[in-house]
Amino acid sequence: MNVGAFVSRRVVTPQGIRAAAMLVEDGRILDVVPSDQLNRQIPVKDFGEAAILPGLVDSHVHINEPGRTEWEGFRTATRAAAAGGYTLLVDMPLNCMPPTTTVAALDAKRKAASGQCAVDWMAWGGVVSDNQEHIEDLAVAGVPGFKCFLIHPGIDGFTMVTEHELRAALPHVARTGLPLLVHAELPGPVDAATQKLAQADWCRYATYLASRPDEAELSAIRLLLSLCREFRFRLHIVHLSTALALDMLRAVKSEGLPITVETCPHYLHFSAEQIRDGQTLFKCAPAIRSRENREKLWEALREGVIDLVATDHSPCPPEMKRLDDGNFRTAWGGIASLSLALPVLWTELTRRGYTLAEIARWMAEGPAKLAGCESQKGRIVKGCDADFVVFDPEAKFVATREHLHYRHRISPYLGEELRGVVKATYLRGNCVFEGGTFPAEPLGREIRR
Ligand SMILES: [Zn+2]
Repeated sequence: MNVGAFVSRRVVTPQGIRAAAMLVEDGRILDVVPSDQLNRQIPVKDFGEAAILPGLVDSHVHINEPGRTEWEGFRTATRAAAAGGYTLLVDMPLNCMPPTTTVAALDAKRKAASGQCAVDWMAWGGVVSDNQEHIEDLAVAGVPGFKCFLIHPGIDGFTMVTEHELRAALPHVARTGLPLLVHAELPGPVDAATQKLAQADWCRYATYLASRPDEAELSAIRLLLSLCREFRFRLHIVHLSTALALDMLRAVKSEGLPITVETCPHYLHFSAEQIRDGQTLFKCAPAIRSRENREKLWEALREGVIDLVATDHSPCPPEMKRLDDGNFRTAWGGIASLSLALPVLWTELTRRGYTLAEIARWMAEGPAKLAGCESQKGRIVKGCDADFVVFDPEAKFVATREHLHYRHRISPYLGEELRGVVKATYLRGNCVFEGGTFPAEPLGREIRR
């Protein structure tokens, strides 16, 4: 394709939602103009009343390849992404083998991804207990930032960092100017709570929730804020669950510290009150908390204390979810939601009076900024890649396995009636998903910083 135009009554741009034509040349947005100003020679695809949203960017995905492709993989994760309206995934450095903590491991990932991806991808580098000398090399090799854990990540091969080890890594991170994404829970409060629950019934959700107290997140965030003040690195808190941290985050953000915060669809949609005992599909860390907590997270998004929504898509083989015995202690913690996150969020947004502009800000532009690719991704503006979603915001559907597309089609969202249907997804002007099918060859590529 050379020059073409995509037209809709509702094109979602950073300047607002309006009837417009998006002019595309060689996969890039040439301009966004009123439809009646189009040159008649240009081929037009008119989506009518369906909205055109920027292709979503998911800055928190566990693709698990190479090494654990039986859990997920580039092919299945990127197809699920295309079906869900995502055009760029940023892969987490753990669960794959080797973990992405050296340039050699990053090269292994690049090799594994090659020729398989339905949408674009990037890779976060890992910061672990002993790879300080690899941090700046990873930055040079093109990662957009780093991820670390302050608590055991539930899997071997990617070590958590203590405060001491973090202090050794932070000067390197600060020198790169790239963000450090942190799983913010400290082990102390989790261990203390878990010890008290030795005799408890671990099939009860209340037991699991009690084992991941708010204080684990709060103490981790307190530590991180003081380190951020000391080392002046870009700090990003992944998957914030506790609303009790919001006052502290609001204060440091207004002080001007370089801090961003994300939360996930499952914290914004589910609540502890509705999770039945034995329902390990809902297990994730930090845990899903109360309804009241959830509403405060929504308030923080509105205020901008929370900057973005990422999925933390973290699948595993169904056996690992322990669906037979429903034991929250031994079940894998992680929720996969790439194909449904957009309708899940949109369902919640319409209940709260938000518009598609907020979807674009929280699920496309915000994550693209975090990954440093906002001049290319996440917005419908001149010069960006022509990545977009054709979305019917009024249509409703009941989530079934057929909608999931990732490797293991299990999900806590199945059976829910959701609002908003992804009719098609375009990557650089090419249709990569339409009506349940994937018409294109794998066109996804790595975006390097
Ligand atoms: Zn994660």
